[in-house]
Amino acid sequence: MQIANSARYTHFSGILLLLAAFSLAACGGSGDAESTGNSVNAETQNYNWKLVTAWPKNFPGLGYAPELFAQKVEAMSNGRMKIRVYGAGELVPALEIFDAVSAGTAEIGHGAAYYWKGKVPEAQFFSALPFGMNGREMEGWISYGGGMQLWEELYEPFSLIPMRGGNTGVQMGGWFNKEISSAADFQGLKMRIPGLAGDVLQRLGGVPVNLPGDNLYTSLQTGVIDATEWTNPYNDLAFGFQDIAMYYYYPGWHEPGTVIEFIFNKDKFEALPADLQEIMRTAAEAVDLTMSDEFTARNSIALKELKEVHGVEPRKFPDDLLIQLRDISQEVIDELGQISPMSQRIHASYREFEANVREFHEIAEEAYSEARRL
Ligand code: CA
Repeated sequence: MQIANSARYTHFSGILLLLAAFSLAACGGSGDAESTGNSVNAETQNYNWKLVTAWPKNFPGLGYAPELFAQKVEAMSNGRMKIRVYGAGELVPALEIFDAVSAGTAEIGHGAAYYWKGKVPEAQFFSALPFGMNGREMEGWISYGGGMQLWEELYEPFSLIPMRGGNTGVQMGGWFNKEISSAADFQGLKMRIPGLAGDVLQRLGGVPVNLPGDNLYTSLQTGVIDATEWTNPYNDLAFGFQDIAMYYYYPGWHEPGTVIEFIFNKDKFEALPADLQEIMRTAAEAVDLTMSDEFTARNSIALKELKEVHGVEPRKFPDDLLIQLRDISQEVIDELGQISPMSQRIHASYREFEANVREFHEIAEEAYSEARRL
Protein backbone atom coordinates (compact mmCIF):
# COMPACT_ATOMS: atom_id res chain seq x y z
CA MET A 1 0.00 0.00 0.00
CA GLN A 2 2.88 2.28 0.70
CA ILE A 3 4.11 2.05 -2.88
CA ALA A 4 0.63 2.53 -4.30
CA ASN A 5 0.00 5.60 -2.20
CA SER A 6 3.31 7.19 -3.00
CA ALA A 7 2.84 6.48 -6.74
CA ARG A 8 -0.57 8.09 -6.67
CA TYR A 9 0.72 10.95 -4.65
CA THR A 10 3.55 11.58 -7.12
CA HIS A 11 1.09 11.54 -10.00
CA PHE A 12 -1.29 13.88 -8.17
CA SER A 13 1.55 16.24 -7.30
CA GLY A 14 2.56 16.27 -10.97
CA ILE A 15 -0.93 17.39 -11.96
CA LEU A 16 -0.92 20.14 -9.34
CA LEU A 17 2.44 21.36 -10.60
CA LEU A 18 1.18 21.36 -14.16
CA LEU A 19 -1.92 23.28 -13.20
CA ALA A 20 0.26 25.81 -11.43
CA ALA A 21 2.58 26.05 -14.41
CA PHE A 22 -0.30 26.70 -16.77
CA SER A 23 -1.85 29.38 -14.62
CA LEU A 24 1.49 31.15 -14.53
CA ALA A 25 2.54 30.72 -18.13
CA ALA A 26 -0.84 31.60 -19.65
CA CYS A 27 -0.28 28.93 -22.24
CA GLY A 28 2.07 29.49 -25.15
CA GLY A 29 0.63 26.62 -27.17
CA SER A 30 2.48 24.08 -29.32
CA GLY A 31 3.20 24.13 -33.02
CA ASP A 32 0.57 21.46 -33.56
CA ALA A 33 -2.20 23.39 -31.90
CA GLU A 34 -4.78 25.50 -33.64
CA SER A 35 -6.38 28.42 -31.89
CA THR A 36 -10.14 28.47 -32.05
CA GLY A 37 -10.48 31.97 -30.66
CA ASN A 38 -8.80 35.32 -31.00
CA SER A 39 -6.41 34.68 -28.14
CA VAL A 40 -4.23 31.60 -27.83
CA ASN A 41 -5.60 29.61 -24.92
CA ALA A 42 -4.65 26.02 -24.15
CA GLU A 43 -8.16 25.35 -22.84
CA THR A 44 -9.72 26.03 -26.21
CA GLN A 45 -6.99 24.99 -28.61
CA ASN A 46 -7.58 22.10 -30.95
CA TYR A 47 -4.84 19.57 -31.55
CA ASN A 48 -4.24 17.18 -34.44
CA TRP A 49 -1.79 14.48 -33.45
CA LYS A 50 -0.31 11.51 -35.23
CA LEU A 51 -0.11 8.01 -33.71
CA VAL A 52 2.21 5.49 -35.39
CA THR A 53 1.86 1.79 -34.67
CA ALA A 54 3.84 -1.43 -35.04
CA TRP A 55 0.75 -3.21 -36.39
CA PRO A 56 -1.03 -3.32 -39.73
CA LYS A 57 -3.81 -0.73 -39.86
CA ASN A 58 -6.96 -2.00 -38.10
CA PHE A 59 -5.35 -5.36 -37.27
CA PRO A 60 -7.66 -7.22 -34.84
CA GLY A 61 -6.74 -6.87 -31.17
CA LEU A 62 -3.35 -5.17 -31.28
CA GLY A 63 -4.35 -2.78 -34.06
CA TYR A 64 -7.80 -2.10 -32.66
CA ALA A 65 -6.34 -0.69 -29.43
CA PRO A 66 -4.84 2.53 -30.87
CA GLU A 67 -8.02 3.18 -32.87
CA LEU A 68 -10.05 2.84 -29.68
CA PHE A 69 -7.60 5.13 -27.90
CA ALA A 70 -8.05 7.82 -30.56
CA GLN A 71 -11.85 7.52 -30.39
CA LYS A 72 -11.90 7.78 -26.60
CA VAL A 73 -9.56 10.76 -26.48
CA GLU A 74 -11.56 12.64 -29.10
CA ALA A 75 -14.85 11.93 -27.30
CA MET A 76 -13.53 12.78 -23.82
CA SER A 77 -11.91 15.98 -25.03
CA ASN A 78 -15.04 17.07 -26.87
CA GLY A 79 -13.09 17.06 -30.14
CA ARG A 80 -10.20 19.21 -28.92
CA MET A 81 -7.71 16.38 -29.49
CA LYS A 82 -7.97 14.52 -32.79
CA ILE A 83 -5.54 11.64 -33.34
CA ARG A 84 -4.86 10.05 -36.71
CA VAL A 85 -3.68 6.45 -36.45
CA TYR A 86 -1.11 5.16 -38.93
CA GLY A 87 -0.51 1.45 -39.49
CA ALA A 88 2.99 -0.01 -39.71
CA GLY A 89 4.84 1.42 -42.67
CA GLU A 90 2.27 4.12 -43.48
CA LEU A 91 4.30 6.91 -41.93
CA VAL A 92 7.29 5.05 -40.47
CA PRO A 93 8.27 1.35 -40.47
CA ALA A 94 7.05 -0.69 -37.47
CA LEU A 95 10.42 -0.90 -35.78
CA GLU A 96 11.19 2.81 -36.15
CA ILE A 97 8.37 4.07 -33.94
CA PHE A 98 10.63 4.69 -30.97
CA ASP A 99 12.90 7.03 -32.95
CA ALA A 100 10.00 8.71 -34.74
CA VAL A 101 8.18 9.61 -31.52
CA SER A 102 11.43 10.53 -29.78
CA ALA A 103 12.17 12.98 -32.61
CA GLY A 104 8.59 14.29 -32.64
CA THR A 105 7.83 13.07 -36.19
CA ALA A 106 4.72 11.61 -34.58
CA GLU A 107 3.47 12.51 -31.10
CA ILE A 108 2.37 9.00 -30.05
CA GLY A 109 3.46 5.44 -30.75
CA HIS A 110 1.89 2.03 -30.02
CA GLY A 111 4.14 -1.02 -29.96
CA ALA A 112 6.06 -3.15 -27.48
CA ALA A 113 9.15 -2.25 -25.47
CA TYR A 114 11.20 -5.32 -26.48
CA TYR A 115 11.27 -4.07 -30.06
CA TRP A 116 13.85 -1.51 -28.92
CA LYS A 117 16.28 -4.04 -27.43
CA GLY A 118 19.03 -2.99 -29.86
CA LYS A 119 18.86 0.59 -28.60
CA VAL A 120 17.63 0.18 -25.00
CA PRO A 121 18.17 -3.44 -23.85
CA GLU A 122 16.66 -2.65 -20.42
CA ALA A 123 13.33 -1.89 -22.12
CA GLN A 124 12.77 -5.63 -22.43
CA PHE A 125 11.85 -5.75 -18.75
CA PHE A 126 8.70 -3.75 -19.55
CA SER A 127 7.25 -6.00 -22.26
CA ALA A 128 7.80 -9.69 -21.51
CA LEU A 129 10.63 -11.86 -20.29
CA PRO A 130 10.91 -15.57 -21.12
CA PHE A 131 9.61 -17.53 -18.13
CA GLY A 132 9.07 -14.20 -16.39
CA MET A 133 5.95 -12.72 -14.85
CA ASN A 134 2.58 -13.33 -16.50
CA GLY A 135 0.30 -10.57 -17.74
CA ARG A 136 -1.56 -9.96 -14.51
CA GLU A 137 1.70 -9.91 -12.55
CA MET A 138 3.39 -7.54 -15.01
CA GLU A 139 0.47 -5.13 -14.84
CA GLY A 140 0.60 -5.23 -11.04
CA TRP A 141 4.34 -4.58 -10.98
CA ILE A 142 4.18 -1.68 -13.41
CA SER A 143 1.10 -0.08 -11.92
CA TYR A 144 1.60 -0.59 -8.17
CA GLY A 145 5.04 -2.17 -7.72
CA GLY A 146 7.37 0.62 -8.78
CA GLY A 147 7.79 -0.55 -12.40
CA MET A 148 6.18 2.53 -13.94
CA GLN A 149 8.58 4.97 -12.30
CA LEU A 150 11.57 2.94 -13.54
CA TRP A 151 10.11 2.72 -17.04
CA GLU A 152 9.60 6.50 -17.13
CA GLU A 153 13.15 7.04 -15.93
CA LEU A 154 14.52 4.68 -18.59
CA TYR A 155 12.74 6.50 -21.44
CA GLU A 156 13.33 10.03 -20.13
CA PRO A 157 16.70 10.51 -21.96
CA PHE A 158 14.86 9.76 -25.21
CA SER A 159 12.22 12.42 -24.52
CA LEU A 160 9.56 9.72 -24.26
CA ILE A 161 6.82 8.98 -21.73
CA PRO A 162 5.69 5.34 -21.64
CA MET A 163 2.21 4.12 -20.70
CA ARG A 164 0.65 0.69 -20.69
CA GLY A 165 -1.35 0.09 -23.87
CA GLY A 166 -2.64 -3.48 -23.63
CA ASN A 167 -1.69 -6.98 -22.63
CA THR A 168 -1.78 -10.12 -24.74
CA GLY A 169 -1.88 -12.60 -21.87
CA VAL A 170 0.10 -15.84 -22.25
CA GLN A 171 0.97 -16.25 -25.92
CA MET A 172 1.26 -19.40 -28.01
CA GLY A 173 4.63 -21.04 -28.62
CA GLY A 174 4.65 -20.45 -32.37
CA TRP A 175 4.26 -22.00 -35.79
CA PHE A 176 6.74 -24.58 -37.07
CA ASN A 177 7.13 -26.77 -40.11
CA LYS A 178 8.89 -29.52 -38.22
CA GLU A 179 8.26 -31.25 -34.94
CA ILE A 180 10.02 -29.90 -31.88
CA SER A 181 10.97 -32.91 -29.76
CA SER A 182 14.05 -31.61 -28.00
CA ALA A 183 16.46 -28.68 -27.86
CA ALA A 184 18.37 -30.20 -30.78
CA ASP A 185 15.47 -29.26 -33.06
CA PHE A 186 16.25 -25.58 -32.49
CA GLN A 187 19.74 -26.07 -33.94
CA GLY A 188 20.04 -23.84 -37.01
CA LEU A 189 16.34 -22.93 -36.83
CA LYS A 190 15.74 -19.42 -38.11
CA MET A 191 12.81 -18.19 -36.05
CA ARG A 192 11.09 -14.86 -35.63
CA ILE A 193 11.06 -14.36 -31.89
CA PRO A 194 11.43 -10.92 -30.27
CA GLY A 195 13.08 -9.81 -27.07
CA LEU A 196 15.19 -11.75 -24.64
CA ALA A 197 13.70 -15.08 -25.75
CA GLY A 198 15.78 -14.63 -28.90
CA ASP A 199 18.90 -14.88 -26.73
CA VAL A 200 17.59 -18.15 -25.27
CA LEU A 201 17.00 -19.56 -28.76
CA GLN A 202 20.49 -18.49 -29.75
CA ARG A 203 22.04 -20.42 -26.85
CA LEU A 204 20.38 -23.53 -28.22
CA GLY A 205 21.91 -22.94 -31.65
CA GLY A 206 18.90 -21.24 -33.18
CA VAL A 207 18.89 -18.01 -35.20
CA PRO A 208 16.49 -15.42 -33.75
CA VAL A 209 15.04 -12.86 -36.12
CA ASN A 210 13.24 -9.68 -35.05
CA LEU A 211 10.69 -8.98 -37.79
CA PRO A 212 7.54 -6.86 -37.48
CA GLY A 213 4.18 -8.55 -37.91
CA ASP A 214 3.40 -7.27 -41.36
CA ASN A 215 6.34 -9.22 -42.89
CA LEU A 216 5.78 -12.52 -41.13
CA TYR A 217 3.41 -14.38 -43.44
CA THR A 218 5.53 -13.80 -46.54
CA SER A 219 8.78 -14.46 -44.67
CA LEU A 220 7.53 -17.84 -43.46
CA GLN A 221 5.96 -18.71 -46.80
CA THR A 222 9.11 -17.95 -48.79
CA GLY A 223 11.49 -19.60 -46.32
CA VAL A 224 13.19 -16.41 -45.14
CA ILE A 225 12.41 -17.84 -41.69
CA ASP A 226 11.73 -21.45 -40.69
CA ALA A 227 9.35 -20.68 -37.83
CA THR A 228 7.55 -17.78 -36.22
CA GLU A 229 5.62 -16.86 -33.17
CA TRP A 230 3.16 -13.96 -33.18
CA THR A 231 0.70 -13.74 -30.32
CA ASN A 232 -2.29 -15.95 -29.64
CA PRO A 233 -5.07 -17.74 -31.55
CA TYR A 234 -7.11 -14.60 -32.24
CA ASN A 235 -4.23 -12.64 -33.78
CA ASP A 236 -2.46 -15.67 -35.30
CA LEU A 237 -5.62 -16.71 -37.14
CA ALA A 238 -5.90 -13.19 -38.58
CA PHE A 239 -2.46 -13.52 -40.18
CA GLY A 240 -3.30 -16.95 -41.63
CA PHE A 241 -0.28 -18.91 -40.37
CA GLN A 242 -2.45 -22.03 -40.30
CA ASP A 243 -2.26 -22.10 -44.11
CA ILE A 244 1.54 -22.24 -44.29
CA ALA A 245 2.73 -23.96 -41.09
CA MET A 246 2.23 -27.56 -39.99
CA TYR A 247 2.59 -27.34 -36.22
CA TYR A 248 1.25 -24.93 -33.61
CA TYR A 249 3.03 -25.25 -30.26
CA TYR A 250 2.23 -24.09 -26.73
CA PRO A 251 2.77 -22.65 -24.18
CA GLY A 252 4.33 -19.30 -25.00
CA TRP A 253 7.20 -19.69 -22.56
CA HIS A 254 8.88 -16.78 -24.32
CA GLU A 255 6.02 -14.30 -23.75
CA PRO A 256 3.93 -15.14 -20.70
CA GLY A 257 1.91 -11.89 -20.75
CA THR A 258 3.28 -9.18 -22.97
CA VAL A 259 2.67 -5.57 -22.01
CA ILE A 260 1.91 -3.42 -25.05
CA GLU A 261 3.07 0.17 -24.76
CA PHE A 262 2.09 3.66 -25.71
CA ILE A 263 4.94 6.12 -26.04
CA PHE A 264 4.40 9.88 -26.07
CA ASN A 265 6.79 12.59 -27.11
CA LYS A 266 7.58 14.08 -23.72
CA ASP A 267 7.87 17.74 -24.71
CA LYS A 268 4.63 17.69 -26.69
CA PHE A 269 2.78 15.77 -24.00
CA GLU A 270 3.90 18.09 -21.23
CA ALA A 271 2.92 21.14 -23.27
CA LEU A 272 -0.71 19.94 -23.29
CA PRO A 273 -3.23 21.37 -20.83
CA ALA A 274 -3.49 19.22 -17.70
CA ASP A 275 -6.97 17.96 -18.54
CA LEU A 276 -5.88 16.65 -21.95
CA GLN A 277 -2.91 14.92 -20.33
CA GLU A 278 -5.23 13.22 -17.88
CA ILE A 279 -7.61 12.26 -20.68
CA MET A 280 -4.71 10.60 -22.51
CA ARG A 281 -3.66 8.72 -19.40
CA THR A 282 -7.20 7.59 -18.69
CA ALA A 283 -7.79 6.48 -22.30
CA ALA A 284 -4.51 4.51 -22.25
CA GLU A 285 -5.58 2.75 -19.04
CA ALA A 286 -8.96 1.92 -20.59
CA VAL A 287 -7.33 0.51 -23.72
CA ASP A 288 -4.88 -1.49 -21.62
CA LEU A 289 -7.75 -3.24 -19.85
CA THR A 290 -9.91 -3.60 -22.95
CA MET A 291 -7.23 -5.43 -24.89
CA SER A 292 -6.96 -8.09 -22.19
CA ASP A 293 -10.73 -8.49 -22.23
CA GLU A 294 -10.80 -8.76 -26.01
CA PHE A 295 -8.11 -11.43 -26.13
CA THR A 296 -9.75 -13.41 -23.33
CA ALA A 297 -13.07 -13.37 -25.15
CA ARG A 298 -11.84 -13.98 -28.69
CA ASN A 299 -8.91 -16.37 -28.27
CA SER A 300 -11.16 -19.24 -27.32
CA ILE A 301 -13.41 -18.65 -30.34
CA ALA A 302 -10.37 -18.40 -32.63
CA LEU A 303 -8.87 -21.58 -31.18
CA LYS A 304 -12.09 -23.43 -31.96
CA GLU A 305 -11.98 -22.15 -35.54
CA LEU A 306 -8.32 -23.13 -35.92
CA LYS A 307 -9.15 -26.65 -34.76
CA GLU A 308 -12.51 -27.27 -36.40
CA VAL A 309 -12.19 -25.32 -39.66
CA HIS A 310 -8.45 -25.52 -40.32
CA GLY A 311 -7.59 -28.82 -38.66
CA VAL A 312 -4.91 -27.34 -36.42
CA GLU A 313 -4.03 -29.50 -33.41
CA PRO A 314 -1.96 -27.50 -30.92
CA ARG A 315 0.97 -29.42 -29.46
CA LYS A 316 2.66 -28.90 -26.13
CA PHE A 317 6.42 -28.46 -26.02
CA PRO A 318 7.98 -31.48 -24.26
CA ASP A 319 8.46 -30.97 -20.50
CA ASP A 320 12.21 -31.67 -20.71
CA LEU A 321 12.60 -28.92 -23.27
CA LEU A 322 10.50 -26.48 -21.22
CA ILE A 323 12.72 -27.11 -18.18
CA GLN A 324 15.80 -26.42 -20.29
CA LEU A 325 14.25 -23.25 -21.73
CA ARG A 326 13.27 -22.12 -18.23
CA ASP A 327 16.78 -22.55 -16.87
CA ILE A 328 18.44 -20.70 -19.74
CA SER A 329 15.78 -17.98 -19.47
CA GLN A 330 16.67 -17.32 -15.84
CA GLU A 331 20.33 -16.99 -16.84
CA VAL A 332 19.68 -14.47 -19.61
CA ILE A 333 17.32 -12.43 -17.39
CA ASP A 334 19.94 -12.21 -14.65
CA GLU A 335 22.62 -11.28 -17.19
CA LEU A 336 20.40 -8.52 -18.59
CA GLY A 337 20.07 -7.31 -15.01
CA GLN A 338 23.80 -6.64 -14.85
CA ILE A 339 24.47 -4.59 -17.99
CA SER A 340 24.08 -1.13 -16.40
CA PRO A 341 23.26 0.52 -13.06
CA MET A 342 19.75 1.14 -14.44
CA SER A 343 19.31 -2.50 -15.42
CA GLN A 344 20.42 -3.53 -11.90
CA ARG A 345 17.71 -1.38 -10.35
CA ILE A 346 15.01 -2.59 -12.73
CA HIS A 347 16.08 -6.22 -12.31
CA ALA A 348 16.05 -5.94 -8.51
CA SER A 349 12.56 -4.42 -8.53
CA TYR A 350 11.31 -7.02 -11.03
CA ARG A 351 12.72 -9.98 -9.11
CA GLU A 352 11.44 -8.76 -5.75
CA PHE A 353 7.93 -8.25 -7.05
CA GLU A 354 8.06 -11.58 -8.91
CA ALA A 355 9.06 -13.52 -5.78
CA ASN A 356 6.31 -11.96 -3.69
CA VAL A 357 3.53 -12.27 -6.24
CA ARG A 358 4.55 -15.83 -7.01
CA GLU A 359 4.21 -16.85 -3.39
CA PHE A 360 0.71 -15.41 -3.37
CA HIS A 361 -0.32 -16.79 -6.77
CA GLU A 362 0.75 -20.29 -5.80
CA ILE A 363 -2.10 -20.34 -3.29
CA ALA A 364 -4.47 -18.24 -5.40
CA GLU A 365 -4.46 -18.31 -9.24
CA GLU A 366 -2.35 -21.44 -9.59
CA ALA A 367 -4.04 -23.35 -6.78
CA TYR A 368 -7.40 -22.60 -8.32
CA SER A 369 -6.25 -23.73 -11.80
CA GLU A 370 -5.04 -26.99 -10.28
CA ALA A 371 -8.26 -27.42 -8.29
CA ARG A 372 -10.36 -26.87 -11.40
CA ARG A 373 -8.65 -29.77 -13.13
CA LEU A 374 -9.03 -32.26 -10.23
CA1 CA B 1 4.84 -12.65 -29.64
